[in-house]
Amino acid sequence: MFKKYVFQSQNPGYRFLFLGAVHGNETAGTLAQQQIIKMLNEHKLRLIKGSVTFIPVVNEAAHKKDCRFVDVNLNRVVCKHAFPQNNEERIANLLTQEIDNCDIMIDLHSTHCPKDEAFAFIDYPSPDNQKVLSVIPVRYALAGWPAIYAKRADISNFCTESYAHSQGKIGLTVECGYHKSPQSVKIAQNSILNVLASFGCIDMPKPLAQSPEIITLDSYVIKPNEGNLSRSFSHLDYLPHGTTIAQTANGQTFKSSFDGYIIMPNPEANVGSEWFYLGRKQKPSL
Ligand SMILES: [Zn+2]
Repeated sequence: MFKKYVFQSQNPGYRFLFLGAVHGNETAGTLAQQQIIKMLNEHKLRLIKGSVTFIPVVNEAAHKKDCRFVDVNLNRVVCKHAFPQNNEERIANLLTQEIDNCDIMIDLHSTHCPKDEAFAFIDYPSPDNQKVLSVIPVRYALAGWPAIYAKRADISNFCTESYAHSQGKIGLTVECGYHKSPQSVKIAQNSILNVLASFGCIDMPKPLAQSPEIITLDSYVIKPNEGNLSRSFSHLDYLPHGTTIAQTANGQTFKSSFDGYIIMPNPEANVGSEWFYLGRKQKPSL
């Protein structure tokens, strides 16, 4: 169903799992993992502690069609299915086994618009997850994803990160930038190398820790009918209160109800799936 590449060192240590193309058309993590697998195979990089499993293409059927998923969004069905009904539920059953067998999972995604800025999700801000986040090369991290999904019953939140958390694992999702940008591959590659180096698992110097700016998600909008975003937004564009964000063909208009940011606008969204999210800067604690 998917191909995995396992590297085992002679010394005990964390078991890392890196995922790419959980959404089939998001290939930054795929290309980055292929480069690092090559470096390890050619001994240009040495694993000195623990083990690493790479799955560069998790959703192979969707990847072959260059689309996000075949039957359902895999990153909403990552749990164990007693009677898997479709391509993604079958993958989820195998993927959950891989997550069960790791200590630290990094799921590498990419986003829809050419100017999109890279960021990470930190759904569960434990000290361990924050330590990993501090070496991911992004300026922004998004918090609050589980809370906005808990508010609504229409979409479940069975993503890789929530499954990892439910099993007591360290886990982050990195959105590396626009799908087709070479820079997003670089961010995916540096995310992998920095995480491995920060735990002393490869023969590279430890990266400097940093603190990305935290944006807290407020809500999201499911595309209710055919329609369009009101302009070509980029991820993390500032939206003053009252900005028109989108309009549907039957006349429904979406406006921002506070001063905040648009998150992951998807001009290609299908009716019934996430169109855009809204978030606000976390106020610094006093
Ligand atoms: Zn994705």
